[in-house]
Amino acid sequence: MSRIAYVNGRYLPLARASIPVESRAAQFADGVYEVAKVVDGRIIDLDRHLARLRRSLDALAIPLPVTPAGLRQIINRTLARNRLRQALVYLQVDRGTAARNHLFPRGTRPALTVTVRRSQLPGDDELARGVGVIALPDERWARCDIKSIALLPNVLAKQRAAEAGCREAWLHDEAGRVTEGSSANAYIVDGHGQVITHPLGPGILGGVTRAVLLDLARGAGIAVAERPFSLAEARAAAEAFLTSTSSLVLPVTTIDGAPVGDGRPGPVTRHLLDLYRQHCGLRALGA
Ligand code: PMP
Repeated sequence: MSRIAYVNGRYLPLARASIPVESRAAQFADGVYEVAKVVDGRIIDLDRHLARLRRSLDALAIPLPVTPAGLRQIINRTLARNRLRQALVYLQVDRGTAARNHLFPRGTRPALTVTVRRSQLPGDDELARGVGVIALPDERWARCDIKSIALLPNVLAKQRAAEAGCREAWLHDEAGRVTEGSSANAYIVDGHGQVITHPLGPGILGGVTRAVLLDLARGAGIAVAERPFSLAEARAAAEAFLTSTSSLVLPVTTIDGAPVGDGRPGPVTRHLLDLYRQHCGLRALGA
């Protein structure tokens, strides 16, 4: 069955779905996006994703071209038309199409596109083994809290990681503090079992998975510190992991090829992964 995309009021086969050459998205990356996960037909944490979408749009003064209820309906219809119950939903809103000019165009309607695809969540093997990351300088702009479609530095970092045989790049600022990954938030666990992750602010994207996971951790009595940590601290940590909508809670077992802790996913990470899988309605690992 060919995939169906939503584009500005129409549901089209993906091969015929397109945005114009003078789209602000294509010419200026002048737009924002969201990715949400669907498990057994249920969209996980949709309210949080839509709140973040609103926040990103407000930051760029782009109005949402449909009502919030209309947007939910479009997402559900796109999922239904693609007959998908395990999926990732991608939403994009850009400032619209106008003759090229840096200034905001007047009277232009923002564009909304929605695509869905079957989700490929990390498998049991990968979760049991963990993944490697490489450290790279964070070369992104100063408003990483906006989920902007301008992702070139993220693309370059992810490509470098893949070429080094790693899953992700952990980005660090000039002081050597880890901000986050190219498409995931970054965490370490210290020798006392405390989870440490960069605080919210303009330097990182406030992940939906991050917010949910920190709530789950605190609820389970796991200590959490939202403070920057250095690469040196990460290299000496007992455990490390990353989170994102599509990666869940993914153990990080090497940094630049050197093992973290004993080089295997640690108990705090595994506990958090279990809690998060439960939250999403995913079966327990190994079950
Ligand atoms: N940071 C960055 C830079 C990301 O691209 C993502 C995923 N889009 C995340 C963090 C994780 O966010 P979420 O948990 O909402 O998927």
